[in-house]
Amino acid sequence: MTESSQNTLQCLIIGSGPAGLSAALYAARANLNPIVLSGMDLGGQVSKTDAVDNYPGFPEGIDGPELVSLFQKQAERFGAEIVFDSVTEVDLSKRPFKVTTYGGEYLAESLIVTTGASVRELGVPGETEFTGRGVSYCATCDGHFFQEKDLIVVGGGDSALKEGIFLTRFAKSVTIVHRRDELRGGVYLANKAKENPKINFIWDTVVTEIIGDGTVNSVRLKNKKTGEEEVRSMDGVFIFIGHIPNTDLFKGQLEMDENKYLVVDKHMHTSLPGVFAAGEVGDPHFQQVVISAGMGAAAAMEVVEFLEEES
Ligand code: NAP
Repeated sequence: MTESSQNTLQCLIIGSGPAGLSAALYAARANLNPIVLSGMDLGGQVSKTDAVDNYPGFPEGIDGPELVSLFQKQAERFGAEIVFDSVTEVDLSKRPFKVTTYGGEYLAESLIVTTGASVRELGVPGETEFTGRGVSYCATCDGHFFQEKDLIVVGGGDSALKEGIFLTRFAKSVTIVHRRDELRGGVYLANKAKENPKINFIWDTVVTEIIGDGTVNSVRLKNKKTGEEEVRSMDGVFIFIGHIPNTDLFKGQLEMDENKYLVVDKHMHTSLPGVFAAGEVGDPHFQQVVISAGMGAAAAMEVVEFLEEES
C-alpha cells in the first residue's frame, strides 16, 4: 500500500516470523486479505537457524530459511500479501489503527503484533567495536568464517548449546562460558554438547572484555566464585544470552510486563481491543517455533471473531 492509498485493511500483521506468517495463513483463509509487514528479516529469528529439529512434520529436521519459505508460500497461496517494509510508528489511540512504515501508511481495523525479540547484548568493552569482526550473534550467518578457529560461546541456554554444537562444524574448538555451574538448556542439547569432543565448558565465569587488534584475538574472563581473572586467546566470540522483546513501538499504548513483553491473554488479546499479539513478543516462557505458529493461528481466529462481533 502506498501513501495515497488509504483503504482500511481488515487485518494488518506486523512481523513475519512463524507467528506472523501463521497468522497470515489463517487470516487469508478467512478472506480478511491481510498484509504482513515483514520487518528487517523475513522469517525473524528462525531464518537465522540452520536446523529446526522440533517442528512437527519434519522428522529429519528442516533448515530455518526453508521453513520460512514454506510458511510464506502457504500464506501467499491463500492471498496474504507480504510487504518488505519496517514499521516506524504506531498510533493505537483510535480505530482504524494507523501504522507508519518507511514506505507509507496503513490503516487497519485490527492488528496482529508479531514483532518477536532481538538478541540480548553482553554490554562489555569491545563487544560493539568487534561486532562483525569476531563478535557475532548468529552462528548460521557467521560460523563459516571461523574454519579451524578457537571460539567462545557465551550463555548456558538452549541457544548457546545448539549454536555451539553447530559451530563445531567449522571451528577447531568451542568453549562454552556460562555464568553458573548448571546449564539452563535442556538435557538433550546439554548431553549432545557434553559428548562433542570439540566442546569444552568453563563454569561460573563471565566474559568481562573482548580484546583485539582489528579483529578479536582474546577475551578477559572472570570466575564469579573465586574472582580470578585470565586473558585467553580466542578468534571469535558468539553471544547467546537470551532476547529482548521488540515492543518499543507500543510503549505507552499496550500493557507490558516488567521485562517489556506484551501482556497477552490466552486468546492472544492485548490490553487494547482490536490489537492481538502472538509469538515471542508476548511469550517470555516457551519461545518455540511451534508455539509461536500456534499463537499466530489463534490470533487470526480471534480477529475473525472480533470483526464478526462488530458487524
Ligand atoms: P535463555 O534460555 O534465556 O538462556 C540465556 C542464557 O544466557 C542463560 O543461561 C543465562 O544465564 C545466560 N545469560 C543471560 N544474561 C547473561 C549475561 N548478561 N551474561 C552471561 N550470561 C547471561 O535464552 P536462549 O538460550 O536464547 O533460549 C530462549 C528460548 O528458546 C528458550 O525457551 C529455549 O528453550 C528456546 N530454544 C530452544 C531451542 C531448541 O532447539 N529446543 C534452541 C534455542 C532456543 P542463567 O542460566 O544464569 O540465567
